[in-house]
This record gives sequence, structure tokens and C-alpha cells, in this order.
Amino acid sequence: MSELNLILLGPPGAGKGTQAALLTADFGLPHIATGDILRAAREEQTDLGLLAKKYMDAGELVPDEVVIGVILERLGSDDARDGFLLDGFPRTIDQADALGARLEEGERRLTATLLLDASDDVVVQRISGRRVCRKEGHVYHLDFDPPKNEGHCDIDGSELDQRDDDREDTVRNRLAVYHAQTEPLISYYDERGLLRRFDGTRPPADVHDHIRATLATLRLEEDL
Ligand code: ADP
Ligand code: ADP
Repeated sequence: MSELNLILLGPPGAGKGTQAALLTADFGLPHIATGDILRAAREEQTDLGLLAKKYMDAGELVPDEVVIGVILERLGSDDARDGFLLDGFPRTIDQADALGARLEEGERRLTATLLLDASDDVVVQRISGRRVCRKEGHVYHLDFDPPKNEGHCDIDGSELDQRDDDREDTVRNRLAVYHAQTEPLISYYDERGLLRRFDGTRPPADVHDHIRATLATLRLEEDL
């Protein structure tokens, strides 16, 4: 069967990370999340992390040339050779063009871009209740997916924090940035016949089932 090369697209808080965790478990794909890579770099205080910090704190995008470099390198690594799941990349047309060019060079192609649709009101509510564990970044929600033990991760027991950029004023800016810079990717991938839409307001298991069903159909079509 051909490789599965997927992009998860959607506003902050739409559920990209949540679906990515389910899909990588299904298909054994590497989960390549720019936000996670940048947060890890901040934690380690590398040059990349120090540069990214000021953009992330303001809810702005980290400059294209920086993010593109990081992702293209990551896509060249061994574990991404047979497929990948990109989460949070591309976020601009220039990023999408750079990804497209690299895939073409390697005679690879995208399977689909999975769009998680959710209104601003829904994502603001999701983001305000999002909590992540200190150790591994496992994601919870105070109302929709609370941990069993308040304030602690079910998986590794570490403490749960709110991301700095999940505070209300930054979230408004992140949404404005999404509408201005990332939303154009919806028609970009639609025009290329690669866009698949999902109702991100459904419960996580429903969204996941729907994505799986769509991928199964796509793969059947490919094998015909
Ligand atoms: P969310 O999960 O809420 O969509 P992410 O964790 O993906 O947020 O991203 C957090 C921040 O990291 C963004 O607000 C932005 O500053 C930076 N970032 C992540 N991905 C990219 C990207 N592809 N291009 C530029 N900046 C990015
Ligand atoms: P993204 O990666 O797109 O920023 P996340 O997967 O981190 O989004 O989800 C944002 C928040 O909403 C998290 O607190 C998560 O637990 C919660 N969440 C994710 N998917 C759903 C859903 N389908 N219904 C309700 N809450 C959800």
C-alpha cells in the first residue's frame, strides 16, 4: 500500500493534537507537530527556541524560513520515510509551497489535508480549558476531558499547566492570525483536490471515526 502523508489543518484548539494522537496510534505514523518542536526548543533554550519564544508569546507565527527549515529536515529523517502526520504545518501559503516542492523532489505526494472545522467561539472555549502535562505535553480539558486526579496527568502523573499562549488575549491574536494567514490554505488544498473536511465540534471519538472512514475510502480508491 502507498504511504500515508497527512496534514491536520484547523484553528488553534480545533482538536488537531487530539486527533493526531489517535491517528498515529492507528497507523504508526510519526506525529510532526511544529508547536511541540518549538516548545521543546524553548525548553532547551536552543537558538531556535529563543527566537521562537517572542513570536509564540505574542501569538504570532514564527517566520516561514525558520519553520520550513525545521520541518523539511524532520521530513527527511528515517522515521518519516514511509509516511507522516503533520500537525500545525503548513500555516501559510509559502510553507505549503515549500512542502509541496520538497515532496515533488522526492517523488512523494500528499494523501490528504484533514480540516477540522470549528467556530471561534468553540475554540476559545476549548483553549481556555486546555491543560497540558509538564513532562510529555499530554492534553486534557477541564470540562471535556478532565484528568482522573485533579491537576495531574493520568499517564505520567506530572502536573498540569496552562500554556502561556493559551491565555485569553493571546488566543484572540492567534485566531486573527489563523484567519488571515492559515485559512487561505483551505482553498489552496481544495483546488488541488486534497481537502477533506470534518466537523470538529463533534466529540473526539466521532471525529476520529469519520477520519478513519475517509482514509479507508481514499486508500481503497488508490488501490483500484
Ligand atoms: P495550537 O495547537 O493551539 O494550534 P501550536 O502548538 O500548533 O498551537 O502552535 C503554537 C505556536 O507555535 C503558534 O501560535 C506559533 O507561534 C508557533 N507555530 C506553530 N506552528 C507554526 C508554523 N507552522 N509556522 C509558524 N509558527 C508556528
Ligand atoms: P489543537 O491541537 O488543534 O490546538 P487540541 O487537540 O490541543 O487542539 O484540543 C484543544 C482542547 O480541546 C484540549 O483541551 C482538548 O482536550 C479539547 N478537545 C479536543 N478535541 C475535542 C472535541 N472533539 N470535543 C471537545 N473537546 C476537545
